[in-house]
Amino acid sequence: MNTRRSMVAGNWKMYGSGAANAALVDGLRQGLAGLGAAAGAVDTLVCPPFVYLAAVAGRLADSGIALGAQNLCAETGQGAYTGEVAGEMLREVGCSHVIVGHSERRALYAESDEIIARKYAAALATGLTPILCVGETLAERDGDQTSAVVARQLDALIAHCGVAALGRGLVAYEPVWAIGTGRTATPAQAQEVHAFIRGRIAAHDAIIAGSLRVLYGGSVKAGNARELFAMPDVDGGLVGGASLKAEEFVAIVAAAAV
Ligand code: PEP
Repeated sequence: MNTRRSMVAGNWKMYGSGAANAALVDGLRQGLAGLGAAAGAVDTLVCPPFVYLAAVAGRLADSGIALGAQNLCAETGQGAYTGEVAGEMLREVGCSHVIVGHSERRALYAESDEIIARKYAAALATGLTPILCVGETLAERDGDQTSAVVARQLDALIAHCGVAALGRGLVAYEPVWAIGTGRTATPAQAQEVHAFIRGRIAAHDAIIAGSLRVLYGGSVKAGNARELFAMPDVDGGLVGGASLKAEEFVAIVAAAAV
């Protein structure tokens, strides 16, 4: 039995509109209130696109649902970085968390392990809690490279930021082949990699490894969340598609509260 609190985080990706977000947040508030005390046992977080953060922050007021961003600039402060958003700005509009190194950013925007480590450091420097995403592609899994890829991604972070930095963030294991595909890792597959992640970090610092929350992401839905979250090293989920439906997200939160 561990003492780690579960978290369920919603990554809204590039979906939504002012009206759709308002309806979604209202649905979440209502649904989570309906869970009663169970909802209080789980940390909940939503990560809308940048332009909606301030409006969603207002709509979330006093709900207990935290706000996160999907990305941030590796530079802190102000500067001539067209199109970028600094951690300080995210804090100012109400974010407490930020996703770093999502596989879509790695694959579509060529984010390297090094830039991701710099973004993680920028998040910490600006008072945000980073959620570091790691995970292998299908070709890498088929080539028996899962451990090597995840180790490389973690080691790059530790080399740049130090292992203590992992004590101030979260990790999300997101097998790329399971993201948005409807194909979920089995609970046993997820557990195997989550245990590997914890073990890799424990080699540096067993206390940090023991308290680190490692979320699973990849086609989590109401129908599969409970068995995934029942695994001893799975501390909740990072949810994409299903986080856009209030009822589905609330059911996933309920599964994490068990
Ligand atoms: C994600 O975007 O982080 C994700 C896990 O997406 P989905 O749940 O849709 O697979």
